[in-house]
Amino acid sequence: MTGRTHDLTSFTALSLTLVYTTIPDMSLATAVAALGACFIGGLAPDIDQPTADLYRRLPAGTVIARLVSPILGGHRFISHSLLGVLLFGWILKLLLVAMQSIILVDSGIIWTAFMIGYVAHLLVDMLTKEGVPWLFPIPFAFGIPPIQAMRIRTGEFIEKSVIFPSLLAYNNFSMCSIIPVFSGS
Ligand SMILES: [Zn+2]
Repeated sequence: MTGRTHDLTSFTALSLTLVYTTIPDMSLATAVAALGACFIGGLAPDIDQPTADLYRRLPAGTVIARLVSPILGGHRFISHSLLGVLLFGWILKLLLVAMQSIILVDSGIIWTAFMIGYVAHLLVDMLTKEGVPWLFPIPFAFGIPPIQAMRIRTGEFIEKSVIFPSLLAYNNFSMCSIIPVFSGS
C-alpha cells in the first residue's frame, strides 16, 4: 500500500479505537503526540523498504534507508510479522521509559497509539498480492482474500479508487461522533 493509504488506515484505526473504547483522560499535548505516534507507527513497518514514505519524510532519510533496510532483510520480512510487532513494541517501550523524565506526555497512550498504527499497517497490507508473513521466519504470507490472484497491487486502481475513498468516507462519518466527545458535549 502507498504511504497515503497507510496514513489514512492508521487514522481510521485510531478513530475506531476512540469510538469503540473508553477514551482515557489526556492532555492536549498527549492527544497531539498520540496522533503523530499513530501515523509514525502506520509507516514504521515499511522501514524495510528503502523507498518507503517514512524515509522521504525524514532529513537524511535516504542515508538512513541504506543503513536500516538491509538489516531487516528486505521488504516484508521481520517488520511485517508478529515478531516485528513485539520487537518494535519492545524497543519503543524502552525508548519511552528512558525519556519518561523529559517528555510531558502520557507514554502509555503514545505507545498504544503507535502500536495501533503499526498493526493497522500490517492488516491493510494483507489486501495486497504480497500478503503479510505474520509467522516470520516461517516463509508463508497471509492475505485477504486467501487467493492471491484476487488481491490488489499497491498504488493501482482498487487502492486509489475504492479503498482510499472508502476510508475517507468512513472517517468523515466517524469524526461526527468523535468531535462531540472531545468538545465535552
Ligand atoms: Zn508494508
